[in-house]
Amino acid sequence: MPRKVLIVGGGDGGTILANRLVKKLPANQVEVEVIDKSDVHWYQPGYLFVAVGEAEAGDISRKRPSTLRKGVKFTKAEVERIDLDNREVTLKDGSKKGYDYLVIATGSTINYEEIPGYKEGADHIWTFEAAMKLREKLFSIKEGKVVVGIGGLAYKCPVAPLEVAFLADELFRRRGVRDRIEMKYISPIDRPYGPKLLNEVIEEEMKRRGIEPVTFFSVDYVDAEKKVVNSLEGDSLEYDILVLTPPQKGADVIFRSGIGDDEGWVSVDKHFLNVQGYDDAFAIGDATALPTPKTGVIAHFQAATLANNLAVEITGEGIREMFDGQSFCVIETGFGKASAQVSNYYNSTAPGLIPNWLLHAMKLAMNKMYWKCILTGMI
Ligand SMILES: Cc1cc2nc3c(=O)[nH]c(=O)nc-3n(C[C@H](O)[C@H](O)[C@H](O)COP(=O)(O)OP(=O)(O)OC[C@H]3O[C@@H](n4cnc5c(N)ncnc54)[C@H](O)[C@@H]3O)c2cc1C
Repeated sequence: MPRKVLIVGGGDGGTILANRLVKKLPANQVEVEVIDKSDVHWYQPGYLFVAVGEAEAGDISRKRPSTLRKGVKFTKAEVERIDLDNREVTLKDGSKKGYDYLVIATGSTINYEEIPGYKEGADHIWTFEAAMKLREKLFSIKEGKVVVGIGGLAYKCPVAPLEVAFLADELFRRRGVRDRIEMKYISPIDRPYGPKLLNEVIEEEMKRRGIEPVTFFSVDYVDAEKKVVNSLEGDSLEYDILVLTPPQKGADVIFRSGIGDDEGWVSVDKHFLNVQGYDDAFAIGDATALPTPKTGVIAHFQAATLANNLAVEITGEGIREMFDGQSFCVIETGFGKASAQVSNYYNSTAPGLIPNWLLHAMKLAMNKMYWKCILTGMI
């Protein structure tokens, strides 16, 4: 009898895992099912390019079944509850599904409530609709104050707000309005970006581009009427456009099932990714409480590790691998250049790279390779 692997969430992590599993094992050894509440798969890094008019919906989305290899069963449904002790999930229509192995890949959700006034006063690029709304503003502003930065913590893709600042700067220069627009970048810590060595590169670039860093600015609330953003430290900034990372939390199903921490992140073993206390349930990607950035790259590396380990478990052959926190972060700085940093659990001190065209070319290539090579489990 094939072993049943049930994957809740068909985003980056869930899709890569499913495709790798059916590539590794024949149908008489494994049955793989992906459940997702939506049948559209979005390439989320593409929202950045949507906001600056360089990508459209069709470039960054696909119907979900077309992203899954033959042999993966796709069910479009919302999972209402996950019961780890009874090895079953309940769908919104009340039906239940059992499993031999469960993988939770439910990502994160936006938690607008955490910052009063955010919804009315701030923009972002964490959904396609929001990126389109911001695009209109970036293309129509002729003068004024643009404030970009970190609103809520945690949020997925730590470098995304910096990329917004750099690409907006490039857009304003191309539109010939940059000298009439003041740009500020807010951060709750003592520098724009956490990892110190990449931060040095970022700060240098901000100086060159005339983007003023505003540090120790932890967003408290947004006054949408007065167009002012206020910090817990007692400072205020006026804005015409405010682009903030929306605060994020785990998926609703994690809260409903009582299997996450206070913010809805699932605790897993940092190397083998099994949910703490269970050896037949795993979590990957943004859903975990691991101390790694919430990125597609991490979801990708975790899915590769877990696909190998499930194949070893099912066949009894091969060697289990350990996930080591591997991350590779490319950051667009505009004008055809990008910087990057690599890190893992044990080393986060690799230098940030001086922005160059090669890394930018890599990021653009990634936008295409994503569909053909990464999601399919080829690399
Ligand atoms: C603007 C932006 C820029 C980014 N840039 C980069 C970048 O440059 N590099 C990078 O590596 N990463 C980047 N990321 C982050 C990356 O997209 C995410 O980290 C990645 O998608 C996480 O994968 P995941 O599988 O954990 O979650 P997701 O891909 O978000 O998938 C989660 C899935 O679970 C489904 N789901 C949730 N709850 C349920 C339920 N109850 N029932 C059924 N289905 C459910 C959702 O519908 C969703 O499809 C960026 C993200 C954004 C928003």
